[in-house]
Amino acid sequence: MSIRVTVWGENVHEHKNKIVAQIYPLLMHGTIAAALNGNKGITATTVTLQDAEHGLTKEKLAETDVLIWWGHVAHGDVADEIVERVCDAVWGGMGVIFLHSAHFSKPFKRLMGAPCNLYWREAGERERLWVTSRHHPIAAGIPEHFELEYEEMYGEPFGVPEPLETVFISWFAGGEVFRSGLTYKRGAGKIFYFRPGHETYPTYHDANVQRVIANAVKWAYNPEARIADPHDGPNRTVAEALEPIVERGPRLHQDGEAGYR
Ligand code: ZN
Repeated sequence: MSIRVTVWGENVHEHKNKIVAQIYPLLMHGTIAAALNGNKGITATTVTLQDAEHGLTKEKLAETDVLIWWGHVAHGDVADEIVERVCDAVWGGMGVIFLHSAHFSKPFKRLMGAPCNLYWREAGERERLWVTSRHHPIAAGIPEHFELEYEEMYGEPFGVPEPLETVFISWFAGGEVFRSGLTYKRGAGKIFYFRPGHETYPTYHDANVQRVIANAVKWAYNPEARIADPHDGPNRTVAEALEPIVERGPRLHQDGEAGYR
């Protein structure tokens, strides 16, 4: 029994920017998947924006327990039909982890229903992440705080709905702070947003970052919740009522058709 993870990579910077290519010879999604595959009980594969249907066919999503999303410059190239398919899978119980600039990805914005905007600065600043929820499973084995020597700054206010839990906050050398590890639930699906991961820094080689992502995969895995059609809403007839009732009063729908009105 293994948790099936699909790492979705935008796969653009690695081919256009030499620095990114040097830091991530396995590509960013390949690096994230390789680190996950070092964990017992996790099997990670990768798909990219350039694959047919962005690699997210109905079949692939059906056999994905947890999806990981990294995107940045090509959010607009993701087809709306695939975005809806991903959201359906999340509402139906698939776990999902959005990394770094995926805060502006179409599926994250759709699931949050909010602008998801933030302040940012690319100046190679030190980032210090603090654990704010010591006993949260996503923080298991992580020290009280850890540092990433070079990162892009993301600063509050972060335009997302109030999360269920805040697992990490970040402080940056320039003085800003940011809620950098947030949990949500949408439908039956568990969602984790994790901030670090700017493409020109070696963030996904960091042992603590890798551990957080692996912990988040285990946390988001929820196979018992998986349902095929999260939009399903059948009519429950008078005959099916738990207590005996008699129809009364005016009725809008007298054609006997099942379905939501
Ligand atoms: Zn970035």
